Amino acid sequence: MSPVSDYDLHSHSTASDGTLEPRLLVQRAHAAGVRALALTDHDTTAGLEAATDEGQRLGLVLIPGVEVSVTWHGRTVHVVGLHVERGHPLLEAGLSGLRAFREWRAAEIARRLEQHGVAGAYEGARRLATGAIVSRTHFARYIVERGLARDLREVFRRFLVRHKPGHVPGEWASLEDAVRWIRAAGGQAVLAHPARYRLAGPQLRGLIGEFRECGGEAIEVVSGSHSREDCLVMAAETTAAGLRASTGSDYHGPDNPWLELGTLPALPQGCAPVWENWSH
Ligand code: AMP
Ligand code: MN
Ligand code: MN
Ligand code: MN
Repeated sequence: MSPVSDYDLHSHSTASDGTLEPRLLVQRAHAAGVRALALTDHDTTAGLEAATDEGQRLGLVLIPGVEVSVTWHGRTVHVVGLHVERGHPLLEAGLSGLRAFREWRAAEIARRLEQHGVAGAYEGARRLATGAIVSRTHFARYIVERGLARDLREVFRRFLVRHKPGHVPGEWASLEDAVRWIRAAGGQAVLAHPARYRLAGPQLRGLIGEFRECGGEAIEVVSGSHSREDCLVMAAETTAAGLRASTGSDYHGPDNPWLELGTLPALPQGCAPVWENWSH
């Protein structure tokens, strides 16, 4: 059995689509034995101040991060930034553009759902989104709350993915811009949960190659959404590309019972950890 990792470099709070306030998230990670946690909310750094403060209080290393939404050849992919400087003007301007798109998209999703007989989705999602952004997760929670589906997965499958009534194509940052904003803010760019994109080998290598050319530094090899097999495949691709490896639960709150903080396995042998040269 592989030991549990001290590091968890991907998580969400109520500043985006997590269900725990930043301070509570840090408390829970600390109690679960996580030594270094990155808060990486979608397209916002609004939770970082409180999380950093709580990390200092408890003696947990809080790595300021963000998860940037990207459109790459018509698909949505995610790039995590680690150690980003909070309030950096270029990064914040970029994220603010993405949040503006989210606002427009939320109204558009609601309009489409309304035509499909789901009433009040805009107000519902807005109410459930108490932080800086509205995400599809908030629409999913509203639809579950209305009793129109059993769980979030079912909502995504029936309403919110391509070819389904509430789907609105993303128009997010380019891969190049996302990496540039993160690096300008002093951060390291990590390609998030690559197995989730379900790319065939050549496409995956294309994505990793472009990401590296833009200045990307690491790939999330271990992820809460990767199977053991996915981890091993991504470890091999990452090493072959000469990139570093990261690990992150992508935790969104305690109501996802299949994944708890402090349970991530260590990186597979042969990976160069993204934290190798960190001072903490
Ligand atoms: P958005 O960035 O607003 O398009 O929302 C994407 C978020 O939805 C992801 O970060 C996940 O938290 C969540 N999500 C995506 N697919 C699923 C799914 N099949 N089941 C549950 N949550 C999902
Ligand atoms: Mn999410
Ligand atoms: Mn993601
Ligand atoms: Mn995430």
